[in-house]
Amino acid sequence: MISVFGSANMDLVAYVAQAPERGETVTGHRFRTIPGGKGANQAIAAARAGVQVAFLGAVGDDGFGAELRAALTEAGVDVRGLRQVPGSSGIAHIVVDDDGGNSIIVVPGANGTVTGPSGEDMAAIARSDALLLQLELPMEGVVAAAQAAQVSRVPVYLTPAPARPLPHELLGAVTTIVPNEHEAAAITGVSGPEAALDALLEQVQEAVITLGSDGALYGARSGERLRVPAAAVKAVDTTAAGDTFVGALAVARAEGRGMAEALRFASTAAALSVQREGASTSMPTRHEIENALS
Ligand code: ATP
Repeated sequence: MISVFGSANMDLVAYVAQAPERGETVTGHRFRTIPGGKGANQAIAAARAGVQVAFLGAVGDDGFGAELRAALTEAGVDVRGLRQVPGSSGIAHIVVDDDGGNSIIVVPGANGTVTGPSGEDMAAIARSDALLLQLELPMEGVVAAAQAAQVSRVPVYLTPAPARPLPHELLGAVTTIVPNEHEAAAITGVSGPEAALDALLEQVQEAVITLGSDGALYGARSGERLRVPAAAVKAVDTTAAGDTFVGALAVARAEGRGMAEALRFASTAAALSVQREGASTSMPTRHEIENALS
């Protein structure tokens, strides 16, 4: 079982030829609401990739909250740890351009109330094969969840997004950090993935830097280094490619696969997701991942 202690947002997605500049108004082609948030995305990605997943977090008492709960439930995610709090659910305002690039504004809403794991959350974390964390919740909550996992020797995967300074207590409890290239540079102050990887490994045991269509770079303190290419596909929307990658990586590792095989599994899942629109709507099932791998 994998636990995800994280955010749930309703993604409000506008599709447009080119994202507007400041002060500019442009007409989009289309608009959709899609359940998202890095936490919910990773929970759905992991559930589709074939494990039991418990989602620990909060939604508001608005219509978006009910829709988010329903979407997680439909994906097979256990939502007993999803609290409802007064006020708005988290939202992400996303602009997707015709090249498949995106820009995003997140308003935390209910996610901002998740300042630490409850007693039930701690019990779920302790029973898990892995805990997945991101940075769309208050930092104190993320740190407390990571430390709860560390006490129970549960591996902790951290997606350090949106990028912000990482306290030592958090890094000390993280097993595997999975930034994209920009986040890796922001955290380490070092540019270039190889150098950023070295800098990250001074702080955590393992790191995977995702490099978009250039694949991903893995390193461990033991000195092991691996590079996994991305499949050559036509990307239509890269939203949640990173979340799909980390969800699938944690599943493969929890099943006992070696890192090289787990990285191939994750990269295959992420390449499938970029070929479809949206966040949760784009994530492949286990069957699709296995088919693409063979
Ligand atoms: P996002 O914020 O859009 O969710 P990200 O910036 O966190 O994504 P990326 O590094 O862009 O993460 O992508 C994560 C992984 O997804 C990559 O390591 C790669 O395996 C896969 N991927 C991303 N873009 C492409 C692409 N154009 N073609 C194939 N695979 C891709």
